[in-house]
Amino acid sequence: MQQPRPQELEGITEMYPEIEIIGITIPTCSDDFDYGVDDLIADATRTAYQTNDKATPHSNQMLLKHCAAGGHTSIFEHASVTIRIRGASRAFTHQVVRHRHQGITQESQRYCDEGNFGFSCPPAIKEAGLEDQFYGMMESARQNYLYLQKKLKEAGLSSHRANEDARFVLPNAVQSEIVISPNFAELRHMFRLRLTTHAQWEIFNVFKLILEEIVHYTHVFDDIKVYFDDHGNLDCFGGSC
Ligand SMILES: Cc1cc2nc3c(=O)[nH]c(=O)nc-3n(C[C@H](O)[C@H](O)[C@H](O)COP(=O)(O)OP(=O)(O)OC[C@H]3O[C@@H](n4cnc5c(N)ncnc54)[C@H](O)[C@@H]3O)c2cc1C
Repeated sequence: MQQPRPQELEGITEMYPEIEIIGITIPTCSDDFDYGVDDLIADATRTAYQTNDKATPHSNQMLLKHCAAGGHTSIFEHASVTIRIRGASRAFTHQVVRHRHQGITQESQRYCDEGNFGFSCPPAIKEAGLEDQFYGMMESARQNYLYLQKKLKEAGLSSHRANEDARFVLPNAVQSEIVISPNFAELRHMFRLRLTTHAQWEIFNVFKLILEEIVHYTHVFDDIKVYFDDHGNLDCFGGSC
């Protein structure tokens, strides 16, 4: 069968991941405008040593660095971040929800009509010259979905019921919006696992975007850097739990 060219496709769109930090822990124990989330973590940490009266912005940063280097990372559970992720696939969201120390809310394929879904196309499929075929497969999946949705409604199912059963023919590539709220310790752990060659390209890309963004809010992740090892594999250091 002749597969449709991308520009001939109607209703489905290729998407690329975007992340937005929509919330982060706000300290309420100081009127000082510069007192930020890192100072809050340091303040909680100082409870162990009863050195809260010795806190300065510089000594707080030194304390957090010292704890991170020593693997005393439970202190980072005192802060959390809320991140909205759009344009990534259900394959990605299935991977990210395996991390258990976080709040999660995901777009519902029961309540939402997927008749015009967005999708992710793996770079390797493009590099292999299979992009047009892949787009055609997405369009076929959409047509199957719409067919089932229509027939199920004709059979008497509500829109909600029709959506939830028609979705069984949707591919893993379908984009799915998700909001995650990990604490900083869990996010460090997620970076450690997902910013390596072993992680799939999409979750790697999403976590790279998150790392690039979160460093504007806190220094807790400053030690996490992505690098190529001696074998040419991607890895990151820092982030140990
Ligand atoms: C490269 C890669 C490939 C993968 N491939 C597969 C695969 O083929 N099949 C598959 O099923 N999964 C796979 N996974 C998912 C993986 O098995 C984990 O589910 C996922 O990485 C979540 O991380 P985590 O288990 O460290 O726990 P998280 O949920 O992120 O928790 C962080 C840490 O908290 C602790 N913790 C959390 N819950 C408990 C608990 N109940 N009891 C004790 N300690 C706990 C553990 O120390 C854990 O490491 C893969 C992950 C990666 C990174």
